[in-house]
Amino acid sequence: MTTDPTGAAAADANSELFGRARRSIPGGVNSPVRAYGSVGGTPRFLVRAKGPHVYDAAGREYVDLVSSWGPMILGHARDEVVEAVQAAAARGLSFGATTPAETELAEEIIGRLTASGREPVDRVRLVSTGTEATMTAIRLARGVTGRDLIIKFAGHYHGHSDGLLAEAGSGVATLALPGSAGVPAPIAGQTLVLPYNDLDAVRAAFAAHEGRIAAVITESAACNMGVVPPAPGFNTELARIVHDAGALLILDEVLTGFRVGPAGWWGVETDGDGDTVAEDYEADIYTFGKVVGGGLPLAALAGRAEVMEQLAPLGPVYQAGTLSGNPVAVAAGLTTLRLADADVYAHLDAAAARLSASVDAALTDAGVAHRMQHAGNLFSVIFAEDGAKDYDEVRAQESWRYAPFFHSMLESGISLPPSVFEAWFLSAAHDDATLTRIEDALPAAARAAAEAQPPA
Ligand SMILES: *Cc1c(COP(=O)(O)O)cnc(C)c1O
Repeated sequence: MTTDPTGAAAADANSELFGRARRSIPGGVNSPVRAYGSVGGTPRFLVRAKGPHVYDAAGREYVDLVSSWGPMILGHARDEVVEAVQAAAARGLSFGATTPAETELAEEIIGRLTASGREPVDRVRLVSTGTEATMTAIRLARGVTGRDLIIKFAGHYHGHSDGLLAEAGSGVATLALPGSAGVPAPIAGQTLVLPYNDLDAVRAAFAAHEGRIAAVITESAACNMGVVPPAPGFNTELARIVHDAGALLILDEVLTGFRVGPAGWWGVETDGDGDTVAEDYEADIYTFGKVVGGGLPLAALAGRAEVMEQLAPLGPVYQAGTLSGNPVAVAAGLTTLRLADADVYAHLDAAAARLSASVDAALTDAGVAHRMQHAGNLFSVIFAEDGAKDYDEVRAQESWRYAPFFHSMLESGISLPPSVFEAWFLSAAHDDATLTRIEDALPAAARAAAEAQPPA
């Protein structure tokens, strides 16, 4: 694999910490993609962060384009958020009982989705991780419909619950795994995996399994295999097919929710004519995570009362959590959402457009076949001339060009996601000077990508 060009220079607190970590933590990490497996080299051990910057154990500063995989939409350690968290912590870390702020957060989420004039949700349940949100959404859809089968799309990531790991994105894609060991075949068999952006495949699956499909779960815009947006009209037509068949649509906005716009992707997606699709379709259950917790463990599922009130204690579908709606996490999430106003989204859109264009230009200048792919302010580079619309095309790219690109950027003090199968995450704190610093690093990285050799 690629050697880490900065390893010697940083000589290095990071290597020492990684060696020690591996003796007590499997692979030295608590989430696989952090191990730098697909880019090689030593993961940076981060010790603090502020604004657009993170700092490693060797004292080096990096511009951060990971943003904790999305939550840090305001930048790191934003003063107001830290103060709200400190104040909440001082009042008590956890009660295991209802708190007033949970209702405020539920109201904030409902308010964001109803600002479109539609009312797709009027009940919200708070949980602690995106995995729990999608897992619960699926149990709820099965409980409501009395059916067992689930459709997901190849390359979409919905967390690490048993039924959702088949051909998943994110770390599963990074490690090139077909799924996971430890998932019993009868459980995996309840999930039908279809190619993304292929409505004919969806129609065929509903025809082949009439009356047996409980739900289709889809990332509102796929961002865990690199960014692969839905084709214009895909989500709208998907919703129609699903609803005609008496099934539920679960729109997984854990990554896109409240990051690409005030109401998530559902609020910014446009059809071929540029009109917003919030007019055209609604999902039955929306799942949120990442930004909604502002950097602390918090996620949510939301829907209409007739669906959501099938959850315990009102309905027969059980779900619970000792730390669900934790007051410190709610303080971080609520404060983050309240500060994420129209100006923040406008800034993110402009910064993403600028940086994506700069990456595009640098790679073009270096003669590297690539395509920039976008979903609102989320973007990634795909090393294939014609881009990609599904997981097969994503996997066919020259992904080996990414490791030298990544390490060149890291050497210049820019921390990209350590996998080509991930989106780049900007924040409100990525100002003009920060973007310029990233841009200055691009030509050398693009040259490194151009000189990369395919694996033997
Ligand atoms: C991150 C992610 C999840 C899982 O969330 P966790 O908090 O990591 O469990 C689910 N769905 C999507 C679309 C995600 O990006």
